[in-house]
Amino acid sequence: MKALDIKGLEKTYAGGVTALKGIDLTVDQGDFFALLGPNGAGKSTTIGIICSLVNKSVGSVKVFGFDSVKDEVEAKSCIGLVPQEFNFNQFETLMQIVVNQAGYYGVPRDVAKTRAEKYLKQLELWDKRNASARELSGGMKRRLMIARALMHEPKMLILDEPTAGVDIEVRRSMWAFLKEINQQGITIILTTHYLEEAEMLCRNIAIIDKGIIVENTSMKALLATL
Ligand code: ADP
Ligand code: ADP
Repeated sequence: MKALDIKGLEKTYAGGVTALKGIDLTVDQGDFFALLGPNGAGKSTTIGIICSLVNKSVGSVKVFGFDSVKDEVEAKSCIGLVPQEFNFNQFETLMQIVVNQAGYYGVPRDVAKTRAEKYLKQLELWDKRNASARELSGGMKRRLMIARALMHEPKMLILDEPTAGVDIEVRRSMWAFLKEINQQGITIILTTHYLEEAEMLCRNIAIIDKGIIVENTSMKALLATL
């Protein structure tokens, strides 16, 4: 079974823009996978559909065997999403943000608190646990979004442009953290428009341009052609 299995995916927005023109993509369990492409290529649309946040027009998406429409709840529970924009309540504390997130997935409160400690420590946010999120730097907010996405212990983590606007030191420590949790078995998919980021992290890569997958190969094979 694949972590992700996308067949013939098309998306035309209500306004008439066709963002995806027939995408086929599979990601193996345990993979570290990059979806690389310029702005407007269709990366966020693809992620939105995988996470059941955007309706597809045509095609099928399976997440660990669960259909993203028919088995939406099961498919979603396999995924931790780190969206591009900060979408937490800035006036809540870090603890509230991550514990509440676990609550949405039915994680018991005591388990949620133990996990919150684990992930906030791993992401170097534990000292800030009782601060409100608006007090955090951009890099810290980005790490908070990763901690929050892990609170229901998903099998797959999806990050949309995870290091956009993050300085190089924070970027390196985020990369190290992602590599570590991938080695522990979590499947990771990230979108990026930096080849360098994909090169640092990913085993396999798909390149998307104007709603079409123009390349889908191993990172090694891609680098050999450059
Ligand atoms: P990327 O993430 O690669 O920058 P997107 O998936 O955001 O690309 O966008 C792909 C195309 O779909 C672009 O032409 C964009 O303008 C369009 N698009 C994205 N979101 C919407 C929306 N909500 N409504 C209409 N068009 C959209
Ligand atoms: P403290 O240990 O600081 O008293 P709380 O137990 O109040 O922390 O939890 C922090 C926040 O998380 C509160 O807003 C609480 O309502 C919320 N919360 C804690 N556990 C859950 C849960 N399982 N589901 C939903 N919300 C929860």
